[in-house]
Amino acid sequence: MWNIEEFTEAAGITVGELAAYVDRSQRGDEPAISRRPPRELAERLRLGELIAKGGMTPETFRDFLRTFLGEGTRLHHPAYLGHQSASPDFPAALADFIHGATNNPMAIYEMGAAAATVEFEVLRWMLAKVGFPAGGGVLTHGGSLANLTALLAARARAVPEAWEDGMPGDLVILAPASAHYSVSRAASILGLGQRAMVPLATDHLGRIDITKLPDISGRRVMALVAAACATGTGLYDDLRAIGEWCRERDVWFHVDGAHGASALLAEEHAHLLDGIELADSVIWDAHKMLRTSSLAAAVLVRRENDLDAAFKQEASYLFYGERGFDLIGRTVECTKAELGLKIFLNLAWRGERGLGEYVARQYATAHRFWELARRRPGFALPYEPESNIVCFRYGDADHADLRERLMAEGAFYLTSAELDGVRHLRVTVMAPATDDATLEALLDTIEALHGG
Ligand SMILES: *Cc1c(COP(=O)(O)O)cnc(C)c1O
Repeated sequence: MWNIEEFTEAAGITVGELAAYVDRSQRGDEPAISRRPPRELAERLRLGELIAKGGMTPETFRDFLRTFLGEGTRLHHPAYLGHQSASPDFPAALADFIHGATNNPMAIYEMGAAAATVEFEVLRWMLAKVGFPAGGGVLTHGGSLANLTALLAARARAVPEAWEDGMPGDLVILAPASAHYSVSRAASILGLGQRAMVPLATDHLGRIDITKLPDISGRRVMALVAAACATGTGLYDDLRAIGEWCRERDVWFHVDGAHGASALLAEEHAHLLDGIELADSVIWDAHKMLRTSSLAAAVLVRRENDLDAAFKQEASYLFYGERGFDLIGRTVECTKAELGLKIFLNLAWRGERGLGEYVARQYATAHRFWELARRRPGFALPYEPESNIVCFRYGDADHADLRERLMAEGAFYLTSAELDGVRHLRVTVMAPATDDATLEALLDTIEALHGG
């Protein structure tokens, strides 16, 4: 049994340490990342000893936690400009804590009625945002699984007998080469194989070229996948034009909005998703731009039955239907975390409006970076950003090496991406703490490092 006093003390320590960690992180008082080698780190954290002997107490826990936090990556840090993982807001963090203590795996309703109902209502909100009034959805552990689930629904529509009989050999998926790798992985997982991935023509930035959509006569197209927005560049495909093309041909239209669907909440950016309501399926990650921890992603379909059909041929229930409320029939997962609570508590605290303001602010900061960099000689910016992702180059530097050097002291954390075969540095503005001073410092450092 839990010793309630010990729990209360340890939880208090956790809150204190986390508060100090986030405070120092968002002030930028510590390095953004630490990359100490694992052997050294294992020793520092006394992992071997603690695993072998146990015996942690609130006091030794405090020491452990302090070191653990100090040796990680700080997503609240102004110079955290790396992967698209959310800088989590605290209501979502509380949800993780609650889940950790209650553990209601609510894919079966009776294993967590409150958590399941929260998920239903969060999904209902997301469906309304996307424009699927008769739609259905489910939350999954991540966008990759969400893409797989959506494409499974597309497969059930194209080949209902595939569930029983396996796959015919002639189905194809149309997607640009810039699509997230989880899409082509899903093709193999679903038994279509890589040969089923038919690349769509794109412009030089990887956007689907709507004037060059293919002639599909004689082909069995399972789905067309568009990005809102693309992982590498943060640029949005023309959803309306592509969606209309799909409608005319009765092609399943899947919109990968893992990163960028959250722009639906920001008035000045929602136009980027114009036409999303034409989609048959959409995915939307909360652990990117809705400030929840990893992972919480939504699969949304325009017709609710399509999601049930993904896993069996007969729809078992509808939202609040008469035959039960189990989500388990709609997911790859069996046991599932209380994912909806993370999204719900952020919404409940900040409101849809607050989350939308966050998205708008991050998009604006990225745009500001683009403006600041453009003014300086030597910086090349191949496109005006549409989201909080910006790719750029500086002179003829070896950009992999430049990135290493920027990260060496932990002063900055950023990623890189290939555009048209050329490596670029890539900045993703995730932390609310990132400001002009951070951006100027990054540009100054790049100039200084490259023999400026
Ligand atoms: C991040 C991302 C994914 C994958 O989502 P995970 O939650 O990391 O599995 C899929 N598609 C796009 C466009 C993404 O940006």
